[in-house]
Amino acid sequence: MSYPRARLPLVEFSEDEVRRLVDEAVEDDPTALLDVARVRPDLVAPHHLRLIDAEVGWTWDLYRGMTDETAAELVRRIDADPVPMLVFALAAGGTTIAVDAIRRWTTERPAWTGDFHGTIRKAGHTGGWELDTAGNRRELAAPVAYRLVPAAEGVSGGVLDGTCGWCGLTLVRLLELDAARATELLGAGSGPVTVGTCYRCGCYTDYFTAGGAFLDGQERPEFLGHDGDEWELPAEPPLAVGARRPTPFAGNAWETGGSTLGGTPDWIQDTAYPDCPRCGGTMFYLGMVTGGDMAGEFAEGAHYAFHDPACGVSATVYQQT
Ligand SMILES: [Zn+2]
Ligand SMILES: [Zn+2]
Repeated sequence: MSYPRARLPLVEFSEDEVRRLVDEAVEDDPTALLDVARVRPDLVAPHHLRLIDAEVGWTWDLYRGMTDETAAELVRRIDADPVPMLVFALAAGGTTIAVDAIRRWTTERPAWTGDFHGTIRKAGHTGGWELDTAGNRRELAAPVAYRLVPAAEGVSGGVLDGTCGWCGLTLVRLLELDAARATELLGAGSGPVTVGTCYRCGCYTDYFTAGGAFLDGQERPEFLGHDGDEWELPAEPPLAVGARRPTPFAGNAWETGGSTLGGTPDWIQDTAYPDCPRCGGTMFYLGMVTGGDMAGEFAEGAHYAFHDPACGVSATVYQQT
């Protein structure tokens, strides 16, 4: 996959070190290798087939920066013996070969694509894209990413005017973009965006707002329950836009300091782009705030922000281990 390189010094890892981390990923745990893939996917790419043969699929970000040779080999394997893991790794690579193959499978509909419940055109979600109904590649995430760093004033943090339509808690400001920043991430004509969430309900279900207010008409999920707990709103300082990250997938949902504006989501669980409740389309990803950055060192998980500029609807998704 080609992506715009930030003008930053390259992070260096020796070949031996990368090989050792690939061994570690194959035998035990890909966490350390993922840290390399986030900033230098080109160093991990020569090892993709070995990782795939070992079924290392815990995080698809390992397969960024895939070469055309690897993508072509995966297409051959899938045509011969379709395995979902191969499709998701191919899609995460995001090469033209991957897009063309998924478009072909969307059209030809081989029997195995039934396992994807008619959503083979969404297989690209592992790489931050999908095929639209006309078969064109549609990006679901921005090609640039920035750190979100503590500051006196920022684009995330604090509360909004409105309250949750389900539990009455004051809504939290997860992400606020002025028109220029919205245009940078979403494209021209997107206008300013305010993504709000309920600190309580947003931890249990996808949560939708419009213009920073609770989106009317959302059905209250039964599993939300009616506990009478006193929920304290997050108290960490606001987050402002900081330095550009070296790649769009360099954010880290797992740690304090990992919060990121733009780029692609670092999913803690499965890939989970929400559908817009108004038009049904997949919503565009704007950034994430980790639990630690929002509420202090003892909070886990990450809050992911999405937006559909055509409908003016925003969403938050929360994941934790
Ligand atoms: Zn609520
Ligand atoms: Zn919509």
